[in-house]
Amino acid sequence: EAAARAAAVNADTGAPTIFDKIIAKEIPASVVYEDQKVLAFRDINPQAPVHVLIIPKSRDGLTELGKAEQRHEDILGNLLYAAKIVAEKEGIVDGFRVVINSGPSACQSVYHLHLHVLGGRQLKWPPG
Ligand code: ADP
Repeated sequence: EAAARAAAVNADTGAPTIFDKIIAKEIPASVVYEDQKVLAFRDINPQAPVHVLIIPKSRDGLTELGKAEQRHEDILGNLLYAAKIVAEKEGIVDGFRVVINSGPSACQSVYHLHLHVLGGRQLKWPPG
């Protein structure tokens, strides 16, 4: 819960994030899927047997979903379709969840828009 509180006091500064370093291959990641526009890699703190993050390779100001603009419509579609590809690759297409935490009250901690793809176990509803 300390981690949740710490995340909640984080805010969107527009500064580069650790995900830029992953895109640049400056720090390692376990890549699950990649194309020209998106990169999908395993979360380092998995909340389910399958927990993959999908990010746009070019953030283009898209730090959080709550700051999306009309020019981001295409990449938002690319990210969601990539979630289906990842679910298929991971063998969870029959039951998975896609989550976007946007802003401090949702405990967003990395301000480079990302989708969480979760599956491989029975997921409960509602989330916390
Ligand atoms: P939260 O941290 O509250 O889950 P986010 O929705 O911003 O908020 O999620 C950021 C995610 O990024 C976390 O699940 C975290 O485990 C993951 N993460 C942070 N650093 C790395 C990294 N170097 N490699 C893979 N995943 C990472």
